[in-house]
Amino acid sequence: MRLILLGPPGAGKGTQSARLEQKYGIPQLSTGDMLRAAVKAGSAIGLQAKAVMESGGLVSDEIVVGIIEARIEEPDCVKGFILDGFPRTVAQAKALDAMLKKHHKELDAVVELVVDDQILLSRIENRARETVAAGGTVRADDNPESFKKRLAQYHELTAPVSHYYKSVGELRTVDGMAAIDAVTAELDAVLGK
Ligand code: AMP
Repeated sequence: MRLILLGPPGAGKGTQSARLEQKYGIPQLSTGDMLRAAVKAGSAIGLQAKAVMESGGLVSDEIVVGIIEARIEEPDCVKGFILDGFPRTVAQAKALDAMLKKHHKELDAVVELVVDDQILLSRIENRARETVAAGGTVRADDNPESFKKRLAQYHELTAPVSHYYKSVGELRTVDGMAAIDAVTAELDAVLGK
């Protein structure tokens, strides 16, 4: 199963991806996680991405497309993968189409988790509070200012990605405001179709 999970930051893509990973035995490929690992490792990509990520901006299409192209060729992706946080622009979606075609692969589903902005803002505040309470460190881009920028960027650049998949008849939507288990159940139903 080759799947794209779309939705704004804080929509629950990470939580639901973890469940889908278990269910289908395929890895979740999160460009955000990969970029954070690159920043931590201090690699060339990490050095380029660090400042733009901290400010809530978008890393260049070239970098993320390169990361994904290399990643989907790894042996753990033979049965498929879940893309989380990619594609984030229509240019990335088109690059993904070309990449899959080149590797003779096809997408099985594109699902969008739909959540209102107000709910996202309160979720992100809770996520930060819970992380602090658990003794962890809040992501540098999970402060309200960066988050609002990420959300604005989502509406400007990533919402058109949903329209793109809708226009080619591939988009399915799930109510991401329901309880976590209910979202999982709806995802199962939508993917079973
Ligand atoms: P995420 O964990 O998906 O919220 O991503 C965290 C940050 O990584 C984003 O705010 C961007 O700066 C960067 N990032 C992740 N995925 C992409 C992508 N597909 N295109 C551009 N930047 C990305």
